[in-house]
This record gives sequence, C-alpha cells and structure tokens, in this order.
Amino acid sequence: MNFESPPWLTEQLEQAQAFVDEELIPLEPSILSADFFDVEPQLKALREKVKALGLWAPHIPSSIGGCGKSLVQLGLLSEVLGQTPLGHYSFGCQAPDAGNIELLHKFGSEQQKKQWMQPLANGDIRSCFGMTEPETAGSNPTLLEASAVLENGEWVLNGRKWFTSSADGAQFCIAMVVTGPEESKHKRASMIIVPTDNPGYKFVRNISIMGEEGSGYYSHAEIAFDNCRVPEANLIGEVGSGFTLAQERLGPGRIHHCMRWLGICRRSLNEMIDYVKIRKISSSKNLSDMQTIQHWIAESAAEIEAARTLVLQTAWKIENLGFEAAKNEVSMIKYHTANVMQRVVDRSVQALGGLGMTDDKILAYFYRHERAARIYDGPDEVHKMVVARNLLK
Ligand SMILES: Cc1cc2nc3c(=O)[nH]c(=O)nc-3n(C[C@H](O)[C@H](O)[C@H](O)COP(=O)(O)OP(=O)(O)OC[C@H]3O[C@@H](n4cnc5c(N)ncnc54)[C@H](O)[C@@H]3O)c2cc1C
Repeated sequence: MNFESPPWLTEQLEQAQAFVDEELIPLEPSILSADFFDVEPQLKALREKVKALGLWAPHIPSSIGGCGKSLVQLGLLSEVLGQTPLGHYSFGCQAPDAGNIELLHKFGSEQQKKQWMQPLANGDIRSCFGMTEPETAGSNPTLLEASAVLENGEWVLNGRKWFTSSADGAQFCIAMVVTGPEESKHKRASMIIVPTDNPGYKFVRNISIMGEEGSGYYSHAEIAFDNCRVPEANLIGEVGSGFTLAQERLGPGRIHHCMRWLGICRRSLNEMIDYVKIRKISSSKNLSDMQTIQHWIAESAAEIEAARTLVLQTAWKIENLGFEAAKNEVSMIKYHTANVMQRVVDRSVQALGGLGMTDDKILAYFYRHERAARIYDGPDEVHKMVVARNLLK
C-alpha cells in the first residue's frame, strides 16, 4: 500500500486547497447563515469555477462528467474539501447526491440514467434518499413499513419517511419501500424513484436539528407518500433488491463521510493551534505553553493520523479486494473516525473558550452539524456489533 500522491495529484490537491482557502472559507460567514435558496446562484458560480479547473465530481468517471479519481485519491482530495462545509457541494460530490449518482450509474436503466443520473452528475438537479422512518428503527431497516404495490403498471407508494436529507429542493427521491411483505427479511424491500412533483409525494417539513431548520442542501426533511403513483419503470434494479442496493449505496457513502470528516479534523486542529499560539494567559505565557493544551494538540494529531491511515487503507482494500472483503474495515472507520472527529472538534471548542462557542468561528457549526455522524449511516453501536461479531466468529 502506497498512499503517496503522484506529482499530478499533488498539484490538484494544492489547487483544491487554494480554492478552499481563497474562494470558499471567506464565504462561510455569509453563506452558512443564509437561506440556501438565496445563495444558490452564488454556489452555482463556484461550481462553474470548479468545472473550469477540471476538478468537478471526483467520485465519478469522466464518461459521465466527473474527473474520475480512484477511492484512495478521492480520500486525499476529500480531506482537503472537508475543511469547509462548502467544499463537497462546490465540487459536486456531496451526500446524498453522490451516493444516488453512483447507485444509478451501477444499477439504473438507460432511461433512469438519462432522465435522473446525468442531470444530477452535471449538478443541474438535486436528489434525496428516503429510507429512515419515524415509526420504525432506522438501525434495523429490515423493519421498515412504507410500502409500494404494483397496480396496472404503476407502483403505488404509501408511508412516511424522515431525515430525508436535502429533500427541500430535490427533484427526485430514491425511496426504499416494502414490495414483498411475505418475502424473507432481506428480500422485502425495493428502491423506487419518486419525482418530487408527483401529487402523491408530500413534503411535510424541514426538521429542526440542534436549533437549525436549514433549507435546501443543508436540511433534513420529513416526507410522506400518499397513494403516490409512479411508473413501474421507476424501480431500480430488480424487485426485492433494496437491501443489496442499500449495501452498495451506503458502503461507499460511509467511506465518503469518513474522508470528509478528516478535513473537519484538520481544520479544527489548525484553528486550535492558531488560537493557542497567540492567546496570552499571563504576561509571559500563551495558552500554547500549557501542558494540557499541548496534550490536546498531540492527542488530536495522533488520532487524526491513525484515522487517516485506516480510512486510506480501507479505500485501498475496497479498490483492490472488493467491498465485501473490506466490510469490517468500513464499519471500523465509520465509528472510529466519527469519534475522533468529535473529540478533536470538542477539544478545539474548549481551547478557544467563549470564541469557540460563537459562529465567528467554524467550530460551533461543526459541533452542531457533526454530532449526527455517530448516528447516520448506522449508529456506532450497530457498527461495533458488526465488527465484534465478525471477530468472535
Ligand atoms: C443529520 C441526519 C441525516 C440523515 N440523513 C438521512 C437520509 O438522508 N436518508 C435516510 O434514510 N436516513 C437519514 N438519516 C437517518 C439515520 O440513518 C438514522 O437516524 C439512523 O439509521 C438511526 O436510526 P433511528 O434514528 O431510527 O434510531 P433507532 O434505530 O431508534 O436507534 C436509536 C439508538 O439506539 C441505539 N441502537 C440501535 N441499535 C442498537 C443495537 N443493535 N445495539 C445497541 N444499541 C443500538 C443507537 O445508539 C441508536 O442511535 C439521517 C440522520 C441524521 C441524524
């Protein structure tokens, strides 16, 4: 395994870092506090600049408009982009669109690719993914209840979903619904594309999370299907393949999140270092002279390095041995990196004192938005259970 980046990639990583520093970070105070739809034109302009740089959509191949990075290369780039909440969106590789593009690219019909995947890959439309439900445990999606029944060449969907990220403004939702209630638990569900302008699709509300309701890309919605009729051809893959597809979608999705979190770690550690070096706590000492603070820096640096190595090693394993062979590692990096990130962000908030709690710095944003990292795409406890069971076998 060699994670050294070749000269051409080093150049691209430097270009991306310059874009983050010069174009994105300065916009954070105005964009992150605004309504998404008010700043969308500004974000669109940034995306055009990224396309001109040749760095658009690094997770997908050039045949569909991306810049086609390997998973290890994507890890290195994603760490750079993850330093700002505007990074992945500007570069066209944000969740949940990234996972939906990959899913449709691999399993969509020609028509689905043309109608939904390509505009999504181009950044012309947005999408969401509806699996979690208010009434059933998202930790065990085999229990899900929202359903679809085939009637006269149409799927008729009924049920409720919530935490459907980015549903606000999305043109379509990939819904995971029960199509075979009598089938075995992993064959009960299917994935179906639901256009959000369908009269049976209801956008209920954006859920307030940690005091923020959000809008557009920065939102998590509750939605409902009320006798929602869509063409039979909107089924992705085969009837009953929902869980197989979910594994295909969530596996890469988990590693994408971990790669982004490394960027959050890097930025948070840098914020801590910058502050403690200049903050005087007596006539002769700065915060950086305090052993406790030095320990926070040293512990954070070691934890980030270890997490990065594990994430890149997992990316390498997926690429070289396949996703199935790397399943354990994917679970490990999900809980390990999420917890490293939370410790690093928390230490940085603490080191900045009152300033760390304000939105004058990015740390409070990370603190609010990234607590969810230990819950979505499988809570810590479920991933730990998977790893422990495999080791105990
Ligand atoms: C910000 C955010 C964005 C999200 N985006 C999406 C999205 O776009 N699409 C989507 O479909 N879903 C999304 N989700 C939903 C997310 O995937 C679920 O919240 C998650 O799977 C947990 O399901 P649950 O909330 O129903 O918790 P529950 O299943 O009720 O579990 C509650 C808690 O119980 C514990 N627990 C669960 N199982 C076990 C176990 N076996 N052993 C021990 N403890 C256990 C865990 O601590 C867990 O947090 C999002 C969630 C958040 C917070």
